[in-house]
Amino acid sequence: MAIWHPFTQMREYEPLVIEEGKGAWLKDIQGRWYLDGVSSLWVNVHGHRNPYIDKAIKGQLKKIAHTTLLGLGNIPAIELAENLIAISPKGLKKVFYSDSGSEACEIALKIAFQYWQQCKKPQKRKQKFIHLDLSYHGDTFGAVSVGGIELFHNIYSPFLFKTISTPPPYCYRCPFNKTGKICGKECLSKLEKIIKKNHKEVAGLIMEPLIQGAGGMIIHPPGYLKEVRRLTRRYNILLIVDEVATGFGRTGTMFACEREGVSPDIMAVAKGLSSGYLPLAATLTTDKIYKAFLGTYDEKKTFFHGHTYTGNPLACSAALANLSIFKKQKTLEKLKTKISWLKKLVSPFASLEHVGEVRQCGFMVGIELVKDKETKEEYPWQEKIGIKVCLKAREKDIIIRPLGNVIVIMPPLSIKKWELEKLICGVYESIKEK
Ligand SMILES: *Cc1c(COP(=O)(O)O)cnc(C)c1O
Repeated sequence: MAIWHPFTQMREYEPLVIEEGKGAWLKDIQGRWYLDGVSSLWVNVHGHRNPYIDKAIKGQLKKIAHTTLLGLGNIPAIELAENLIAISPKGLKKVFYSDSGSEACEIALKIAFQYWQQCKKPQKRKQKFIHLDLSYHGDTFGAVSVGGIELFHNIYSPFLFKTISTPPPYCYRCPFNKTGKICGKECLSKLEKIIKKNHKEVAGLIMEPLIQGAGGMIIHPPGYLKEVRRLTRRYNILLIVDEVATGFGRTGTMFACEREGVSPDIMAVAKGLSSGYLPLAATLTTDKIYKAFLGTYDEKKTFFHGHTYTGNPLACSAALANLSIFKKQKTLEKLKTKISWLKKLVSPFASLEHVGEVRQCGFMVGIELVKDKETKEEYPWQEKIGIKVCLKAREKDIIIRPLGNVIVIMPPLSIKKWELEKLICGVYESIKEK
């Protein structure tokens, strides 16, 4: 076999080769169909082989597949930027394209850093970033620097830039050992302390809004994001929200920020942007930030970043069709009912012997498995409990992928009721049998 798979221990890899898809289903080369329980890694929105998106790509193919965005425009990229601005939180006015969530986050960091170097009243000391522990913003060096997942990130520590990390509001395993009733919001007072002490040197704060995905589907308590916005505004720190996982309906609204009425200074999107069709990402910023990059060429204020495929017309046409389906088929309205079905379906999980907590934010579910429910003792990661449950699910025609000891359920938004029932029941049985 010539392939080296990403985030995969190849010695233990159990081959499964997908040949075809339809709606929420995937078919392997043996002809067996599986439910796509994690939307092909959190990207698929309207189902595989969606007729509208297929048609849009074919239509664009008749015109042109690729042309560079370095100094040239193309029609799908222009239209998509306008469409994105129209649905994004207030104040975001410019779209910078890229190809992956990691890159969208790196761009956000570079823009934030460069902004303070060359804005109207430069603050050259603002060079640091604050991020949350257990955060995930991608796997390239810049994104890893602001990441907080030990298993993925520790090995690279000699290469990473210094950051300031703050404990996340992971209430089930509160970093301050508090429980719901006597919370006291110490994670926020800690963050405020950090900000007060360092703000003159901090360019930006980067976070996943409402829910930290790869860290284990850690759901923030209501009001957390809003409070972070208040603090960052007060201390003149740019707020970067990473909506790579949460964007495009995942949490029930188009973007997670909307739920707390928050407008960030910079927003990164990717995954659901093209409904899982082609690699595409974007970093959105305010006019104020954009203007700091304007000047004559010799002022060297240009944003010198951009990859070969930035703003690819095929990818942008897929994304345009993706957005139009949201309108045409009232996706977000229908999603409300589906979210409540999902809630009902996952509620019995909590009584299973090894389920510590069931977490749901819109159409994102994380089920944290524990060795001992009373003490919340974790399964040692070497036990691979998550991987075992997912392999069990595969026997029941379900494809899911765990995050350590957390089982993730994140089907396409277009999944039908009976499919959702089959998916959840299958996962339930798989946990029970393990
Ligand atoms: C997946 C993810 C990324 C990285 O996106 P890639 O397209 O895999 O590079 C960044 N941030 C969050 C929140 C993600 O879930």
